[in-house]
Amino acid sequence: MELNLNEQNTFVNSNMISGICSVCHQPVFSKYYFCPNCGNKLNTSPLSKTIQTQIWIYALSIILPMFCFLFIRKWPGMKYIKSEDPEIKQIGYIAWALLIISTVITIYLAFVWTQNIIQSSVDSINTDLGAF
Ligand SMILES: [Zn+2]
Repeated sequence: MELNLNEQNTFVNSNMISGICSVCHQPVFSKYYFCPNCGNKLNTSPLSKTIQTQIWIYALSIILPMFCFLFIRKWPGMKYIKSEDPEIKQIGYIAWALLIISTVITIYLAFVWTQNIIQSSVDSINTDLGAF
């Protein structure tokens, strides 16, 4: 029991300890992104978190248009709108209208979502600064 206490003191006094987990109150290392004890997400490294967020946004920026391109190639709206049959042409127009509305909504949601990620990063930096 006494040995355990000494080990814990050495652990707490180490320079690598950056803080205490807000959920389970165990000491956590500065290199950890998640608490090893309870899995709580730690905000000990706001700069790294920002880089991760940036990589995620950049990766999506590369992947998303590729998915859109593959989808558009399979999308029959183009063929329908070029048809001589007015009924088929109308289906094409409706498909185009839905595609444009969906695109606008998706871009809007992506914009709001990205703003939320940026805001939560700013909030976590502010929280960290407040702790010092
Ligand atoms: Zn924890």
